[in-house]
Amino acid sequence: MFEKLSKKIIKWAKDRDLLHRKNAPKQFMKFIEEVFEFKAEMDQVERIDHEKLKEIYTDRMKLEMGDIFVTLIILCEQLGIDLFDCLNKAYKKISIRTGKTINGTFIKSEDL
Ligand SMILES: [Mg+2]
Repeated sequence: MFEKLSKKIIKWAKDRDLLHRKNAPKQFMKFIEEVFEFKAEMDQVERIDHEKLKEIYTDRMKLEMGDIFVTLIILCEQLGIDLFDCLNKAYKKISIRTGKTINGTFIKSEDL
């Protein structure tokens, strides 16, 4: 499903003439923008106690997380790199990593 959706997003970007390597630096900034939009929504959700409002803000947070993925999918395509390949490499790296979580952050063994 992720792959199917990412193909639709790539087509969307292609139709809008976005898929050129020279656009990658601007796309990267778009990605950073979306990361901060997500952070703003996440902070809202964490602040809210009211059940119904929390639901509404969680939906907004989901949308911003989606925006992050969209920008990354397009950025990968502009750079000619495969998103799943990137994910695989990252997983391979962390899968053998040892360490422990301290105060909510995972610390690598070599940094402990
Ligand atoms: Mg957004």
